[in-house]
Amino acid sequence: MLRFDILTLFPGLFCGVFEESIVRRAVDAGLVELNLHNIRDHAPGKHHVTDDTPYAGGGGMVMKPEPIWLAVEALLGHEVMGPADVDQPVILLTPQGRRFDQRVAVELAQKPRLILICGRYEGFDERVRAHLANDEISIGDFVLSGGEIPAMAVVEAVTRLLPGALGDPMGALKDSYTSGLLEYPHYTRPPVWRGYGVPEALLSGHHAEVERWRRQQALLRTWQRRPDLLAGVELSDADREFLRRLGAEV
Ligand code: SAM
Repeated sequence: MLRFDILTLFPGLFCGVFEESIVRRAVDAGLVELNLHNIRDHAPGKHHVTDDTPYAGGGGMVMKPEPIWLAVEALLGHEVMGPADVDQPVILLTPQGRRFDQRVAVELAQKPRLILICGRYEGFDERVRAHLANDEISIGDFVLSGGEIPAMAVVEAVTRLLPGALGDPMGALKDSYTSGLLEYPHYTRPPVWRGYGVPEALLSGHHAEVERWRRQQALLRTWQRRPDLLAGVELSDADREFLRRLGAEV
């Protein structure tokens, strides 16, 4: 069981995503536990203020350290004076973090518990990053208005890696990036659509032929779109020969 604790100012944003499909099934099957925590509930004072103007001026608002800190302490059940007091992943979603990819998803899927903190406005008071969180994740080199969509992406990508989360237990292993290659193309019925057919190999009924076609298509696709990935893949002699015929340097 992997437990996610998500700290956000907008818990309602997660409704649809967490209430349907793979994530919902994983929750129902007891593979994951998803807990949403409103940072505002931990903001002291009558108005529960969670943000303030930046010191020394500049535009925008900054998320105050207290509410986030108190929310994390409430989850951990003890005071946190620095990162040494935190023995589980406390992850800031931030465009300045390490880039989220399948390798990071696999790493996170091994953990028993993940605390994800969603920012808003200009982001977090720097002391949250420096002295409370112990990991920072970005879902790409672009800036969103909040960490909620990045947190959903992390939960989705990690959850589908958990044994039992997918209908096909081998499904995640064949996915792009998990295997090291981009996945081969898929076809389904009808056999001809608007005059476009299905590759003969897939209709042949010969298991070995199908496997060879899929492997070659994965190699071709990866070479065409992400040749950088080939360096990290274990290649057979047949793979190398196929790539050499394409003109790839292997
Ligand atoms: N001022 C910040 C900067 O330039 O680095 C950007 C703040 S952004 C408008 C507000 C919040 O959205 C961030 O604190 C973060 O939680 C989230 N966010 C935006 N883009 C993100 C990304 N690519 N990956 C992860 N989180 C992101």
